[in-house]
Amino acid sequence: MAGKVCNVLITGANRGLGLEMVKQLAEMPCPGRRIFACCRDPNAPKAQSLQELAKKHPGVIHVIRLDVADLSSIQESAKQVGSVLGKDGLNLLVNNAAMAPYDNTQTAKLKDLQDTFQTNVIGTMMVTKEFLPYLREAAKSSGKPGMSCCKAAVINISTILSSITKAPENISLFPTLALTYRVSKAGLNMLTVCQAQEFKADGVLFTLLHPGWVRTDMGGADGEIDARESVSGMLRVMDSLTEKHNGGFLDYKGQPLPW
Ligand code: NDP
Repeated sequence: MAGKVCNVLITGANRGLGLEMVKQLAEMPCPGRRIFACCRDPNAPKAQSLQELAKKHPGVIHVIRLDVADLSSIQESAKQVGSVLGKDGLNLLVNNAAMAPYDNTQTAKLKDLQDTFQTNVIGTMMVTKEFLPYLREAAKSSGKPGMSCCKAAVINISTILSSITKAPENISLFPTLALTYRVSKAGLNMLTVCQAQEFKADGVLFTLLHPGWVRTDMGGADGEIDARESVSGMLRVMDSLTEKHNGGFLDYKGQPLPW
């Protein structure tokens, strides 16, 4: 991604993989790059690391308030980002924000189900809907053939736990099922495949990435890799994506995953 992708927006950028992605992108030399680092409460202590990072990269990192579970917040953030973008479009949208209650059918709470679907599926869909005009703008103004992340792309962060093929094998790896999370991310996969077809003619690429099992608040201390390795892998994969990967599901090493 070095030197490529001008305008990038990342949701859930105050901690975990989102924060690491902002950090790695900001450290890559790319004149004119703008990174819209979105989080639901920029003034909260949990956004302090992001605010400090933004101070080190003035004019590059723009911290934007965005709660993906709240439509008015999504619309407000789209207006704000639009005013910074001006006539330039948005090249890359990374739908990273998510929540993951650890439950099964017997322990699942209705509120967790609703919040998880609102955040992981509905929120992702509405964020894409509101930012689509900017992505279309970037695709149109690029003048480049084909599809790529430096032209116009949406990367939806999914998980191997959403794989129906792999479910019998990987359910045994976890003490609890993370049932609601798995079902929501399987929904996100279907959403992405549909969007890949819906916006093909606009030249906007849609791809799902699994970041690996990563040591973050969500992945826990037993994760196999750290956020740095996961994000550098995902950025390399993003750099290699073309129209062949539209509607695809890959891991952070670029390996295709089964649905
Ligand atoms: P974390 O739990 O560390 O971070 C989640 C981020 O999402 C936080 O910034 C959180 O913000 C944000 N978020 C949650 N709800 C909302 C909301 N309504 N609006 C805005 N932001 C919100 O998770 P990871 O960094 O580990 O995960 C990032 C992505 O990677 C997720 O999509 C996850 O499903 C996926 N993934 C992670 C794996 C892992 O092993 N870690 C494995 C497979 C996939 P706040 O601080 O405000 O809560």
